[in-house]
Parts: sequence; structure tokens; C-alpha cells
Amino acid sequence: MATQRFKALELVSQRKPHDVTPPSSKVSEYFGVNTFDTRMMKQMLSSDVLDSLTNAIEKGEKINEYVADAVASAMKTWAISKGATHYTHWFQPLTGSTAEKHDAFFELAADGTPMEKFKGSALVRQEPDASSFPSGGLRQTFEARGYTAWDPTSPAFLIESGKSKTLCVPTIFVSYTGEALDNKAPLLKALERVDRAATEVCQYFDKNVTKVIATLGCEQEFFLVDKAMAQARPDLMLSGRALFGRKPPKGQQLDDHYFGSIPLRVQRYLQDLEIEAYKLGIPITTRHNEVAPSQFEVAPVFEEVNVANDHNALLMDVMEKVAQFHNFTVLFHEKPFAELNGSGKHNNWSLSTNTGKNLLSPSTKAKENLQFLTFFVNTLKAVHDYSDLLRASIASAGNDHRLGANEAPPAIISAFIGSQLTAILNELEHNGDVKVDKGDNVYMKLGIDKIPPILLDNTDRNRTSPFAFTGNKFEFRAVGSSSNNAAPMTVLNTIVARQLEEFKIAVDKQIEKDVKKEVAIINVLREYISSSKNILFEGNGYSEEWVKEAKKRGLPNVKSTPKALDAMVSKKAVTLYKKMDIMTESELHARHEVMLENYVLTLQIESRIMADIAKNHIVPTAIMYQNHLIQNVKGLKEIGLDDETQEVVTTIRAISKHISEIKRLSHEMTQERKRINAIEDSREKAVAYDEDIKTKFFDELRWHCDKLETMVDDEIWPMLKFREMLFLR
Ligand code: ADP
Ligand code: MG
Repeated sequence: MATQRFKALELVSQRKPHDVTPPSSKVSEYFGVNTFDTRMMKQMLSSDVLDSLTNAIEKGEKINEYVADAVASAMKTWAISKGATHYTHWFQPLTGSTAEKHDAFFELAADGTPMEKFKGSALVRQEPDASSFPSGGLRQTFEARGYTAWDPTSPAFLIESGKSKTLCVPTIFVSYTGEALDNKAPLLKALERVDRAATEVCQYFDKNVTKVIATLGCEQEFFLVDKAMAQARPDLMLSGRALFGRKPPKGQQLDDHYFGSIPLRVQRYLQDLEIEAYKLGIPITTRHNEVAPSQFEVAPVFEEVNVANDHNALLMDVMEKVAQFHNFTVLFHEKPFAELNGSGKHNNWSLSTNTGKNLLSPSTKAKENLQFLTFFVNTLKAVHDYSDLLRASIASAGNDHRLGANEAPPAIISAFIGSQLTAILNELEHNGDVKVDKGDNVYMKLGIDKIPPILLDNTDRNRTSPFAFTGNKFEFRAVGSSSNNAAPMTVLNTIVARQLEEFKIAVDKQIEKDVKKEVAIINVLREYISSSKNILFEGNGYSEEWVKEAKKRGLPNVKSTPKALDAMVSKKAVTLYKKMDIMTESELHARHEVMLENYVLTLQIESRIMADIAKNHIVPTAIMYQNHLIQNVKGLKEIGLDDETQEVVTTIRAISKHISEIKRLSHEMTQERKRINAIEDSREKAVAYDEDIKTKFFDELRWHCDKLETMVDDEIWPMLKFREMLFLR
């Protein structure tokens, strides 16, 4: 393996940045060219078809066969004109990645005439050979197959792979009995519920609001490693993270990478990525270095949640494809390099109306601020009441290294709102019963006439909070970089929808009793502020004091995935999802099962790779070096330098100790795995993998191997070192 390491280093030293030529100097000239978007639809569809499609997109109305055929035919014509030969239903199974099954447009008619075909039925529904996608047992019990169904709210797009192009149709993936087998189906339901609930609440303030859309802008963090280097590290290739390796002497201490200049090779890669993203209508805007060396971030302008999520999933695919060309490997893992900063996928979220108003944006008008406070406080209350579900929605083996680990946000869900809003909520809470007389300025009496329109400047930002209000949106920062946004977005939108429904009921009750509307609203908000304020935290979320304080407040701090996932199937969760009509109990259990299986598989793979690398690569190298030292001792003795052998012998002994510990730990870990693999119950098995494999063995095994890295001759060390991988040129 050492040969591979040096070959990689040699190769990398000769790498040159690739030239990148944008299709045009103006992005507007090629933005979205590879999507069948609204512009294309307007051009290619008759007005009645367009109307039905718009109604389907905006109001969720059903699409009939005639409309489906017309849309399919237009899509086909468009795709073929762009050089596409195949089409596929594109979906997001519970594995967290994306899936496709390609079919050719080309068909032979019954009489043998060759033709290109894409009927409405093929657009609307497909049966992928889905038996290999995880279903948590749902399909086995009912029907072996599932089907994919067109989601007209997300535009179809073209994927280029080499010279061939494929039309991709975003779809949901469900079983024959209608259970969701993917991430998108429940998300769409949650978005519909939050639309309905928020629209109703908006009626208190503005009768013109007929629709509320949830918005999402997600910042994607990632690491880049040279392809040859990644390929020379089996742990990076198979588990996405370095299971061994010492922190480089120069790490992120100096923070010089953050916002520093981007190496040219990376710049070209990001430029190329931007072009490909633009063609697909993904509006990337920012790019900069992140905290750790070789860590970067791309963020698009926010969009409607479902589209934004599709765009993020698609972007991740595109990032990997473009990286190939630039000889990079993208690491989406939450913690690819121990002791360096991890990667997240910050979910910036808000609600916005058909009248163009951001409901989480404070205003200069007092009346609008009552509306702002309504949505703001209801969101906090929802997060307070269901923080365990939010925690569960971001739980994964990878994110466990980030949340609750040393230098990262804790697994405690708290919210940061800034000093000004804290003061405002405080005042509202303690305002007591407000009496409003005729002719009074009700907003002044309520104390909400003085909310400044711009709430936060950059100094008032807290980057250690998992759920932070950032002036006109909330930022859910605890989401892991490799995850699909649908899970956290389904939870957040569902709990906010439910909360808004409850709020509406409570306010209406008071209005019925002749309480003035504005006063009723404030009365209910006041109750919410006081019952949910213990999730508010303005201090350093990474500190030990917060962990203690949170414990005092009774906030949950569940550090490991198998236990965090319990909340998914709690009585409270089952009731919530049933009431909101998002998922049935069996769907929840199936999902829970898939998550646990996923967790077990991840740790199983990591454990196997660790034992393999330790026993078959590190130990033999250490023995080789040890033999070299033994020869050295013999030689010294031969020429009469007996005294000088002392130090070498000490090293030989130390190496022996590490070798025998590595052998012992690998052996015991393998035995433990055998025992645990026989456990039937998924939760019990996942907990055992966490506590009896990961916790008991990983760190210790790694420690001995990493020690050897410091002792053994660099010339024969088999694994690329962090310092070699992390400083890209
Ligand atoms: P930072 O790194 O400081 O958190 P960025 O500018 O990198 O900020 O990212 C902010 C993200 O929030 C962007 O994707 C942006 O489009 C998104 N965003 C801004 N306004 C909204 C909104 N109303 N709803 C959802 N996302 C939003
Ligand atoms: Mg951010």
C-alpha cells in the first residue's frame, strides 16, 4: 500500500488545473437550459394544458390522461431536441441518495416501425425494479413492488453523462398499498399541511393570502480530496471517512483557510460545478473556504422546499460527477477527519405568502409585526414541543461524530433568537392582561409598535446554536452534510403546521368570547412564550456549561442515533403524524427500521475496514520496521556499541506493545461483532453496535495505530497522511 501512497503523491504533484469555458459570459443565457421549466412549458404547451398543470402544481389538483399525454409529448420533443435518448423516473429512496432506472424513448411498433415514444402513462407512473431499496419491511408484508409517481411541482431535467443524455422526471416512490417508500412523499404532504394551516392564520392579518409556501436555502459543506489520494485510502473509499490518521501539525488553528484564497484547481472545479448547476436551474450563489483545510461550501438562493430539496440532492450528484473530471473526490461525510471541523447542511427555512411576504421578516408596520410575531413564536413553540422529533430527523452514524462530539454543536435542540427579540418576548410575556379601549392604538398598547425592521447585524450571530433565527428566517444548523433535507423538513413543516392549527383554535375561542382579535392573538402568544422559553439559549452552545444548564432545564441530550431515533415511533409522534395525515404508524415503524439498519450497516462496515487495515496493513508495516530496528541493534552490538542499543530496544518494545494491542483489539472486536450480528431486534442491535463496538473499540484501536504512524519510518507508512491529503494545491 505504501507504493500506492507514493504513486498518488507523485500523480498529484503533476496535476494541472483544468480549463473551464462557460457556455456564455452571461449566466442568464444558459440558466435552466437543461430543465423543462415554466418558461419551456409556456412555450410548448397549449393554454388549457398549461392551466391544468398550473392548477396541479399550485392547488394539488389531479392531472387527467389528456393533460398527462400532452405534457409527456412536449417533454419528449424538448428532450429529444436536446439530444436525449432515454428517460427515467428520478426518486429519493430511503438510502438517502437518488435513484434512476433508464428507459429508451426508442420503441418498435407492432409492425416493426421504429419510433420515439413517451406516453402520459409513462410520465405519470413507473415500476422500477425496486426490490433492492430499503423498505423497512413494508413491501414484504403487502406487495413485492412499489411504483414511482410524477411530482409535477418539481421541474423535469436533463442529465448528461458522457455523450448520452437522459430526461429525468422527479417522482415519489410508494408501495402498491400507498405507503411512502421515499423521502419526498411525506415531505409533500407536510408542505401541503403547513400551507393550509399558515394560510388560515394569515387570514387574521390579510385576506389576500391564499397560499403560503415554505422556503429552504441549504448551505452544503464538503471536503475535497484528490481522487488518487482518496483511492489509496480504502477507509475513505468505503466508509467516506478516515478511520485512522493523525491530525496534521498545521490544522485549522490559524483559521487561515476560512475565507482564504481558493486554490486554482478547486476554483476551476467550483466554476465548472456552478456552470453545470446553472444549466440545471440550481441557483448557486456563494462559495468559500470553510473552517478546516480542504473544506468548502456552496449555497443556492432559497426556493420552495420541495424544489430546493430536489436541487440539493441533484447538486450532490452533480458535484460528484464534475469532481471526477477535475480529479477530486467529494467527501460529504459529517466528520471525514477526526479533530478537524465537521460538515453540515444548514437548512435556512421560512414561510412566504403568495402576496410576496416573508412571514418571518419583521416590518416597519406594527400590524405586520403582529403577524411576524405570530409565526415566530409559533415556530419556537413547535420546536420546543417536538425537539425530540427534530433531533431524530437528523440522526445518523455520520452526524453522531458531529453532534455531541467534542468540538461541535451538542445534540441538545435549542434556539437562538438574538438579544433584541429576547427582550421583546420578555416584555410581551410580562405585559399582563392588556385592556384596549376604543380609540386606543392597540399595537402600542400591546407593545409591538417598536420592533426594529432589521433585527440582527452580523455581530449578533450565534454560530453554535442548532436552530438560530437569523433576521428573517430560521437556520437549522444541526442537519448533517450527507443527509437528505426531506426528513428534517418534513418534521419542521409538520410540527409548525400542527402548532398553527392549535393556535388558530385557541385564538378563535377567545374571539368568540368577544376578545378583540389582536388582544386574543397576543394572549395566546404570551402563553406560548412562557411555556416554550426554556429552549431559548443565547450563549455558547459548544460549552460544557450549556450541557449542564440544559440538563437543569430538562432538555433532552440524546447523543447516539439508535436512542435518538426512539422519538420517531413514540406515542406522541404516531399521534402527530396520524392527526396531520403525513404518515401512518406502519410507515413510521418501517422508516425507523430502515434508519436502524442503516446505522448498523455503517458501523459494521467501518468496523470491518478498521480491523482489515489494522491487521493487514498497519501491523505488517510495523513489523517490517521493527525488524529493521532489530538489525540495527545487532549491527550496533557487532561493532561494540552496546550502550547505544538501549534507545532502539525501547522503541522495539513500544512497537511490540502497540502491535499486540492492535491484534487483541481487532480480534475481540471481531468476536463481539459476531455476537451482535446474531441479535434479532434492530434497536437492540444498533445500540450494541454503538456501545459495544464503536465506543469500546474504535478510538482505542485507532489510538494504537496512530501512535505507530508517529514511530514508523515515513518511507514505508502505508496510508496517506492527513497533511498530504488536506492541503490541496
Ligand atoms: P450564512 O453562511 O451566513 O448562514 P449564507 O448566505 O451562506 O449565510 O446562506 C444563507 C442561506 O439562506 C442562503 O441559501 C439563502 O438563500 C437562504 N435564505 C435567505 N432568505 C431565506 C428565506 N426567506 N427562506 C429560506 N432561506 C433563505
Ligand atoms: Mg449558515
